[in-house]
Amino acid sequence: MTEEGFEIDYLPVGNGEKSGDAVALRFGNLAGPRDQQTVMVIDGGTLDSGKQLVSTIKSHYGTDIVDSVIATHSDGDHVSGLKEVLDGLIVKELVMHQPWDHISSRSLANSSTPGVVRASLDQAQTLEALAKIKGIPIVEPFAGMTGFNGRIVVLGPSREYYDELVPQFRPLSTDRNQASTALERLLHASSHTLSSIRDSVYETLHIETLDDDTKHFSAENSSSVILLLIVNNKKILFTGDADSEALTQAADYAEQQLGITLNDLHLLHVPHHGSKNNVGPTILNRIKASKAQISASSNSPKHPSQRVINALIRRGASVYSTCGSGVMHHHNSSPRLNWGSASKLQFVENFDD
Ligand SMILES: [Zn+2]
Repeated sequence: MTEEGFEIDYLPVGNGEKSGDAVALRFGNLAGPRDQQTVMVIDGGTLDSGKQLVSTIKSHYGTDIVDSVIATHSDGDHVSGLKEVLDGLIVKELVMHQPWDHISSRSLANSSTPGVVRASLDQAQTLEALAKIKGIPIVEPFAGMTGFNGRIVVLGPSREYYDELVPQFRPLSTDRNQASTALERLLHASSHTLSSIRDSVYETLHIETLDDDTKHFSAENSSSVILLLIVNNKKILFTGDADSEALTQAADYAEQQLGITLNDLHLLHVPHHGSKNNVGPTILNRIKASKAQISASSNSPKHPSQRVINALIRRGASVYSTCGSGVMHHHNSSPRLNWGSASKLQFVENFDD
């Protein structure tokens, strides 16, 4: 029997302030025919990266059929490019949450948040509408769902946790919106002054400054789909922009309900573009991988955080980041022409953060 393999392509998204995720992957018998392989997309980044996903799948996977497209959460930096994928390829199913179905229609009608926040949910609604026009079935992902003969397992969020999070989404609650818009303006103003004051940090392999405090809570990020791929006994964990709380629930679910440990992963998708706000020592001691992949824009001031890179290396991972160029992880696949290997990020003892 042929051993199963995988190819996971992290495409570069963004330049500057905004990072994003765009991942294409295929697994199965990569030397065999298309029907022995599964092709997936996890998040689409921007419109540009969406176009790149389409060409990557056509040229490197040799197909124009995608078995499953997953939107981890409603934020624009993950959803926008998926419209290109739905338009440019034949998509069998769209896996995404439909937050508007988890809250009363009255609250939705009352919501009137302008600007970027509102736009991000609009993008998800546009994606849903496009899928409906094209007759693509939509599936909402919750812990316990599995697909492709158990190779894909959803570890989070649970339906209960998701229902708790949705009322905290920014565009859905009017009162909170007005308060948070004022607060956001204030925070935005102060972050400009704060960002110029960076701590100078000293770390070693034994001194860690990353902590477990939850900062900048975002219900949208917490609602990210946490997905485990198991191919040929290799475990790969995709986390979207999930935070420590969401990851802890997912790890509990995996251990207690499925008997699966997450401390021996082959590859970890580092959540939220390597932000120090989403992971701390406790969760990183539970979710350990030999390789860790960060998806960050090429000139982001805060993504990825060196504290997170150091924490991952300290726990034995080789750490990679997109930062402007694509990275492929593969196993049991034939080599690609003119495809160099990605360079690892280094441990740094003194840095500003
Ligand atoms: Zn993001």
